[in-house]
Amino acid sequence: MNLLELTESGLFCPPAGIFIDPWKAVDRAVITHAHSDHSRWGMKHYLAHTHSAEVMKLRLGSEINLETIEYGQFLDLNGVKLSLHPAGHIPGSAQVRLEYKGKVAVVSGDYKTETDGLSMPFEPVKCHEFVSECTFGLPIYKWESQAQIFADINSWWKGNAEDGRNSVLFAYSLGKAQRILQNLERELGEVFVHGAVWNTNQALIANGIDLWDVPRVTAEMPKSTFKGSLIIAPPSAMGSPWMKKFGPYRTGICSGWMNVRGTRRRRAADRGFVLSDHADWEGLISAITATEAEKVYLTHGSTASFGKFLQEERGIDAVELKTLFGVEEES
Ligand SMILES: [Zn+2]
Ligand SMILES: [Zn+2]
Repeated sequence: MNLLELTESGLFCPPAGIFIDPWKAVDRAVITHAHSDHSRWGMKHYLAHTHSAEVMKLRLGSEINLETIEYGQFLDLNGVKLSLHPAGHIPGSAQVRLEYKGKVAVVSGDYKTETDGLSMPFEPVKCHEFVSECTFGLPIYKWESQAQIFADINSWWKGNAEDGRNSVLFAYSLGKAQRILQNLERELGEVFVHGAVWNTNQALIANGIDLWDVPRVTAEMPKSTFKGSLIIAPPSAMGSPWMKKFGPYRTGICSGWMNVRGTRRRRAADRGFVLSDHADWEGLISAITATEAEKVYLTHGSTASFGKFLQEERGIDAVELKTLFGVEEES
C-alpha cells in the first residue's frame, strides 16, 4: 500500500494526513458511516457525508468538529483528491476514494449492493486498490429479495394481530430500523418505536431523509395503546422490563446472521427474518470485480477464506487486513 497504510490507530493515508474510520483518537478522520465500529469519539476533526451529520452528532456529541461533503464532491488534501461515493449501507454511508499521482484507492466501509430505497444506491468505483468489507464472505450467504422479506414481516404482523398479539420487532436502531419502517404496510395498524430508534429517526429527518415519523413509546402510554401494533426496538431491549406493557406479544428479529448462527437472541425471539445491510456472497464478488482493482484488502468477517477464494478462483490479489471493524453495534 502506498496510498494507504495500516497503523495502530487505523487506516491512514500518509500524503493526505487523514485516517479512515480510525479506532484511536487522531487529528483528522474521514468517517464512512455513523455505526459505532466506524465512527468513534475523540477525533479533532471529522469529515463525513452530509447525511451522516445529525446521527454522528447524536452519537458523538453536538460539539464535534465536523465537516461534511456531498457524494462526488472533491477535496484537495495536500495534493490527494478525496471524494465520497455511495455505499448503499445506511443513509450517509460512503466509500472513500483517494487519488494521488495517478493511483486510486477506495475504502468501502460497509456496503450492500441491493438498493434499499432509503440509502443512496451503491456505486462501483474503479480503483487500483480496494479495501472491502466481507462480513458475509461465505457462499452460504445469499439474501432473499427484500420484497419477499418485507412481505413476510407484514404477514407476520397481520397474523399476530389476528391472534390478539402485538408484534415486537428487533433491529439495529440505525439503518435496519428505518428500512423496516419504510416497508411496513401502514394500514395494518399503529407503529411505535423505542427511544433509541426514535432519536435516530429524528436525526435523519433533521438531515432531510424522508422517513415515516412514528411515535416513540413513552411511560405514560397505557397498555391499550399497543393493541394490534408493531413496535420496533434495538436488540438490546429484548427481555428488558421496558417490554412488559406490550404483552401479549410475539417477538421477531431482523439480522443477516439469522440463517446460520443460532445466537442467543435468535433463539430468544419467536421469529427470525434474514435481513442485512451488508452485501451477500454474490454482492461482494460483483462489487469487488466491478472495481477492477489489482489489489484487494479485506476487513470484517471471513477475511482469510474469502481472500483465498478471490486469489485461487478469481485471480485477484487479495489479502486480509487486521482491523477493529466488524464488531457491529448492538449485535
Ligand atoms: Zn455499518
Ligand atoms: Zn462495519
